[in-house]
Amino acid sequence: MYTNKNPGRTALHPLHRSHSAQLVPFGSYHMPVQYPDLSLAASHAWTREKCSLFDVGHMVQYHVEGPGAEAFLESLTPAGLAELEVGQNTLSALLLPKSGGVVDDCIITRLEPGPKHLFYLVTNAGCREKDYDFLCEAMGKWEGTMNPVVQLRHLEHDRQAYGLIALQGPLAAEILEKALARDCRVDVKTWYFGWAKHITLALPTGESLPIVASRGGYTGEDGFELSIHPSQTDAVAEALLNSAGKDKLRLAGLGARDSLRLEAGMCLYGHDLDESTTPVEASLSWIIPKRRRSLEGAMEGFNGAETIIPQLTPKSKGGVGVSRRRVGLVVEGAPAREGAEVVDESGSVVGKVTSGCPSPTLGKNIAMAYVKDGLHKAGTELQVVVRGKKRKAVVTKMPFVPSKYWKGGATPVQRVPKRDTPRPQTSRLCDVQRCVGTRTARAGWGRSGGAGSGASGAVAGHGAAGCGAAGAAFLGDAGAADVLAELVGAEVAGELWGGGDYNITWHSGLTRQERSELRKQKGCTVWFTGLSASGKSTIAIALEQHLLQKGLACYRLDGDNVRFGLNKDLGFSPKDREENIRRIAEVAKLFADSTTIALTSFISPYKADRELARALHADTKNTDSPLPFIEVFVDIPVEEAEKRDPKGLYKKARAGEIKEFTGISAPYEAPEGAEVHIHSEKTSVEEAVVMITQYLEGQGLLTVGS
Ligand code: ADP
Repeated sequence: MYTNKNPGRTALHPLHRSHSAQLVPFGSYHMPVQYPDLSLAASHAWTREKCSLFDVGHMVQYHVEGPGAEAFLESLTPAGLAELEVGQNTLSALLLPKSGGVVDDCIITRLEPGPKHLFYLVTNAGCREKDYDFLCEAMGKWEGTMNPVVQLRHLEHDRQAYGLIALQGPLAAEILEKALARDCRVDVKTWYFGWAKHITLALPTGESLPIVASRGGYTGEDGFELSIHPSQTDAVAEALLNSAGKDKLRLAGLGARDSLRLEAGMCLYGHDLDESTTPVEASLSWIIPKRRRSLEGAMEGFNGAETIIPQLTPKSKGGVGVSRRRVGLVVEGAPAREGAEVVDESGSVVGKVTSGCPSPTLGKNIAMAYVKDGLHKAGTELQVVVRGKKRKAVVTKMPFVPSKYWKGGATPVQRVPKRDTPRPQTSRLCDVQRCVGTRTARAGWGRSGGAGSGASGAVAGHGAAGCGAAGAAFLGDAGAADVLAELVGAEVAGELWGGGDYNITWHSGLTRQERSELRKQKGCTVWFTGLSASGKSTIAIALEQHLLQKGLACYRLDGDNVRFGLNKDLGFSPKDREENIRRIAEVAKLFADSTTIALTSFISPYKADRELARALHADTKNTDSPLPFIEVFVDIPVEEAEKRDPKGLYKKARAGEIKEFTGISAPYEAPEGAEVHIHSEKTSVEEAVVMITQYLEGQGLLTVGS
């Protein structure tokens, strides 16, 4: 299974690469944070004004099926699934028994009615393993009590997860409509928020396989989430991009999405929600419908009902209530980071910030926090401690920016000012029902459960994408979210969008961002790889000089200064070679962290070693964000390298004087996804330097800022 240390690739990985996305390991996949054509602020604004395409294929999609599926899911969540129409979806939460703590937030869509029941469940990428264990354990208990059969299946085909793409922005409906296949008659005007439809799109090869699209999203904008057969995810994304054109639709990444979701008042699991928090504390009581608010009747019960139901009646009305609640804050002067303390007038700590950033739309600093019950009313004045300084913070209703979900009306943009109320469930679009049974999605990752249930095999139907609009599980990876704290969080975003206060008076230690601002430079590692004599050192030396002349701090690590110093205790055994690369990567990372551009020039013939170097840079355990790692493949046919042979090494290798010489008697594993690929037999040194410089510029690495 993929993890953040061994991240997988979504079906859109080649598309991200071809658009030079800045990728980070996130939710066990390499995910784009940002693309070079738009800064984070511009991408955010683009989504609010036009439309953005987000890859959300890292999220986890399941089918939960069988006569027991409805009751099984109702036992784990407070959702009212019995009332859910075919094609309709709801935000809900997987809850711990007894405490009612949130294991994960999720979207549940009904695809087939009873008695068969088929539900489509979407959960957070960051909770992948935890959720799966939780669901399997619950199924074990379910089976043990002879309940009706339930099957749980991961939605995939040939071991490839189904793709998930989100279109978000006011032009989303127009863009989707234009991309539909000729025979697909769907009326977007009567397709409302929270409903899924079966559609097909026009691809260059003909009509697409059925896609289940849900209207909603995670940014507060009108939009759609499309669940796509893995073989066509990239073709669908390309078709949407081409059909809409660059003036209307752009790719967007996690960076913009985090500030968009915060403006929309959506929770981020692992930050604004966790297992120590109940839905009532999280101000998500609205996900519990009336029928499920009573403790009577065992069939009605759900995990944690005994804790949660009494919490629904506030203390002021004689109930148990809760001692803290999630609120929105507008913070004056400086953006508040996660973990910042909230204090009252007397200076007593009354809460903690769980997410925060400057709002590009409002030009104010916004945050979510948990505060003591009683202090949660809009207008309550509190303070937040930002870098030792108290800042005024006013409790504010969420969403901070009004949502624009499509609920019918004259134009496809209708403002829904208050989100913390249940959605009306009036309209009926049952197209999904029609498509179910006509397609087959193979599944193998999940397990089947329930008395007498068969082994995993074919399951009818195609999953409907979760309607992310009600706060769909999306980010959720605690470690990876630090990436965003750096990329769109307090300091960086303040710089990007203005409104930040940089009157720094003291520090226990500088953050990289602060170093970067003081040095007016960003750090990164440019990792050259290629055969001996391919030209790595020659190009790296020229690049170093070029960057130094531009006034940028830059330093080259090569055999001379590393092999004979730091690594002089290492030989050439496979273990020592691996350790050699690991140490080089660690040193390069330190240089990059110091905001220097580190250039490394080593053959580094093995993919695994280079991946290790990349993963070290992506690791955020001891730093505040991943460091950019740019692999430069200096490619040359071995015959050409041998002709050059500046150090006479090939000659010696041919004569058998050097054993296991890369390219002659030892393998060189060529990179497949290097950020820059130079064919050095056809590219001059100067041209190679320009190629690398252009790439670095495109990534915003040669300037301070984004
Ligand atoms: P490596 O560091 O990859 O072992 P070097 O840079 O030490 O390779 O050696 C490459 C040799 O090839 C040098 O003698 C260099 O002058 C020569 N060369 C010729 N054309 C090029 C080119 N386009 N790019 C890089 N090196 C080139």
